[in-house]
Amino acid sequence: MDVVRRLLAPGGLLRSDTQLNQQSYYEASVIRPPTQTPLVGSWHTDVAVVGGGFAGLSAAIELRQRGFDVILLEADRVCSGASGRNGGQAIAGYACGQEALEQALGHTLAKQAWEFSLHGIDLIDQRILQHHIQCDRVKGYLYVADSANKAQRLHTEMAYLEKNYQLTSQVVTGAAVTHFIDSPQYQAAAYETASGHLHPLKYGLGLLQAAQRLGVRVFEQTPVVGMNRDQPVMLTTLQGNVYARWVVLAGNCMLPEYSPELAPEITPRIMPVGTYMVATAPIDPSLQRRLIPSHAAVCDNNFVLDYFRFSADHRLLFGGRVSYTTMTPPRLRQALSAGLTRVFPPLAGIPIDYVWGGFVDISMSRAPDFGRLAPHIYYLQGFSGHGVALTGVAGQLAAQAIAGQAERFDVFTKLQHRPFPGGPALRTPSLALGMLWYRLKDALG
Ligand SMILES: Cc1cc2nc3c(=O)[nH]c(=O)nc-3n(C[C@H](O)[C@H](O)[C@H](O)COP(=O)(O)OP(=O)(O)OC[C@H]3O[C@@H](n4cnc5c(N)ncnc54)[C@H](O)[C@@H]3O)c2cc1C
Repeated sequence: MDVVRRLLAPGGLLRSDTQLNQQSYYEASVIRPPTQTPLVGSWHTDVAVVGGGFAGLSAAIELRQRGFDVILLEADRVCSGASGRNGGQAIAGYACGQEALEQALGHTLAKQAWEFSLHGIDLIDQRILQHHIQCDRVKGYLYVADSANKAQRLHTEMAYLEKNYQLTSQVVTGAAVTHFIDSPQYQAAAYETASGHLHPLKYGLGLLQAAQRLGVRVFEQTPVVGMNRDQPVMLTTLQGNVYARWVVLAGNCMLPEYSPELAPEITPRIMPVGTYMVATAPIDPSLQRRLIPSHAAVCDNNFVLDYFRFSADHRLLFGGRVSYTTMTPPRLRQALSAGLTRVFPPLAGIPIDYVWGGFVDISMSRAPDFGRLAPHIYYLQGFSGHGVALTGVAGQLAAQAIAGQAERFDVFTKLQHRPFPGGPALRTPSLALGMLWYRLKDALG
């Protein structure tokens, strides 16, 4: 089959994704339900959702709750993409920062966007409660800085968020940092409880179950390979088609891999950035409590950042080592192992039980990119490393817009997005160069 041959061609994202998909800690710690059968034949629905990650599942649930008939089409398995592999950190705010949103939208809309991000975290908790999802949810988040300059930057940023967005945090420097994290690496830390963490695949499979209970028809192993823009839209899959009055595209970085013609105007606006994680063997719970007493998720304020947290079964889940080429970096296990040992010297030599990675959908401005290809075709992309919290609210806003209340969704359509320079052939090399520059900046403090 042509599509399958093209997908696995050298240099294709999917090929790298398969390499990255050495079994993750998350996949090893869940029992997936049996595969949903692929779609065969001709189907009709109110809304077709393309992509079964957090964004697609959220849109499907919200649409069904508003009475729409919904079909969800997933190319692989539900949450086999970024949603089932990520750091699990549900973070308040946006990767671009509030000041950038204020410049782009003005203070009132930037404030509304900030509240949407907090609502994204509330929505996780509401869904956990409402659908009885067991996903190791923990509140608490620690930002850390590894130089005096970055400590100053962290201080300024947290003061700004407190003054303008009422995000209260405890900011500490010097010896007081050890109250929050026992690491020689950091000179300052800021702790807040709006953000937190969870087991993303347990959460995503909980959303799948909730969607199905509500009556969403889910098809796995069903890549959408073609779409016209008529009304109704016809989506073509490998063995059938779906006619839908509305479509929500939530395919993230993989969308152009399955079909470059599906949405050529938006796919150059996001860049697939490879980011990688390891899970150590479980450690002694008392050592874990000493290393991160609050059990918070942690992230530094470098451009090329380290992010980590402990799992419910006492493993350190440590992420970092981004790659702006689509190739998996060499000696990944060793590099991440060295990184976590720098942060926590007592963990030197600890066995690494799992190594995996995935692609983050970064937009040029790092602001989310939501909009419409046509009045009845919506898209959600560009979560830029903040998708755990933002995907939920994105799906909800798209559902509200389809139900006739577009005001909240359209806060985001006011943001201007540019394609990455160079087209498909050049944007990866030019970003790799940009990346070297940022690494240098991180190193210089
Ligand atoms: C290693 C890693 C760590 C991360 N850590 C964090 C973190 O700690 N906090 C945070 O907020 N964010 C993090 N992120 C980012 C976050 O995971 C994403 O922003 C979020 O999961 C995006 O969700 P999504 O639903 O848009 O995309 P995905 O979860 O990627 O889902 C898209 C789905 O669409 C399917 N698809 C694509 N094209 C088609 C097609 N044509 N037909 C049918 N199906 C299709 C794909 O198979 C895929 O399952 C991380 C990402 C990675 C990879």
